Amino acid sequence: MAETTNNGEIDLLLGRMKSATAPLRGTLQELHARFAPLTEGKVADYIPELAKADPNWFGISIITTDGQVFEVGDCKHSFTIQSISKPFVYGLALEELGLEPVMARVGVEPTGEAFNSIVLDEVSNRPFNPMVNAGAIATSDLIGGKDFPERVTRMISMFGRYCGRPVHIDNSVFLSERMTGHRNRAIAHLMLNFGIVSPRLDEALELYFQQCSVLVTAHDLAMMAATLANGGVNPVTGERAIPQKYVKYLLSIMHSCGMYDYAGEWAFRVGIPAKSGVGGGILAVVPGVLGIGIFSPPLDAKGNSVRGVHVCRELSEQFGLHSFESGFAGSSIKNQFSAQRAPR
Ligand code: GLN
Repeated sequence: MAETTNNGEIDLLLGRMKSATAPLRGTLQELHARFAPLTEGKVADYIPELAKADPNWFGISIITTDGQVFEVGDCKHSFTIQSISKPFVYGLALEELGLEPVMARVGVEPTGEAFNSIVLDEVSNRPFNPMVNAGAIATSDLIGGKDFPERVTRMISMFGRYCGRPVHIDNSVFLSERMTGHRNRAIAHLMLNFGIVSPRLDEALELYFQQCSVLVTAHDLAMMAATLANGGVNPVTGERAIPQKYVKYLLSIMHSCGMYDYAGEWAFRVGIPAKSGVGGGILAVVPGVLGIGIFSPPLDAKGNSVRGVHVCRELSEQFGLHSFESGFAGSSIKNQFSAQRAPR
């Protein structure tokens, strides 16, 4: 468990906490101990490199919008970000092109289908949203630059701003993705057929495989989430990662589509914007308050980290984090609360 300041401070930030009797630090230790013995779920093996993950790896990190860190377990262990990259690359496309040109290529409707489904909107021919592979590949196609290396550099440095440190690609995973990515190629060719992606198709796919192979830790995921919770500014470095006006779009799309075909039940039960990846990561955002990063490789049938889902459900329940929790008015007025005046 990393050192933190005090629990009074987190109580203040979590002005909407249901109960001040559940200090965050102790809760994380308890949840880690409770869910570590779980044996459900299966490590992803459709990309051979991912199959090497140890099912016992498990880390939970929380970083508040004023930079306090609460951690337990394997929070420094690197793994590939996978689909958690998708909202962030979408944010980069929004920043580069603006909302409407991006909307013309990628929709914002949930699909209820698996992330790798080969299906486009029959009327517009667009992918349904940027969280499924089709939408993510179309989004990667939008990232600009004078040549391919510059496009990759833009993408990698964007992740670096969120993490507050330079990030790197896991070359073995990247090569493994590329070797086995035939379904993604099929999706890309279908989109080329409809003029949704440019003929620089191979570059879009390479960018997509690279973004999925970016190495992060649970701590990094929490920092990325905290940056979104903080309106786009990294709470530790003070660097802006994305213009504030686009943050709400990332959070909305994560809220409705971030957890694969579990997104509806997640929004219902947990109620905070989140994104998961087949590397075992889950990133979740409590706007204005904190970011959560969890790493545990065994996945459920929908592709979400089993322990990660359990932990988020518990955190949401114990701290009243659900966006529609009754009894408080939401993050925009959280500063009106104090620890004393917070609803109990
Ligand atoms: N690289 C993975 C793929 O396209 C990303 C999937 C994921 O995390 N859901 O298959």
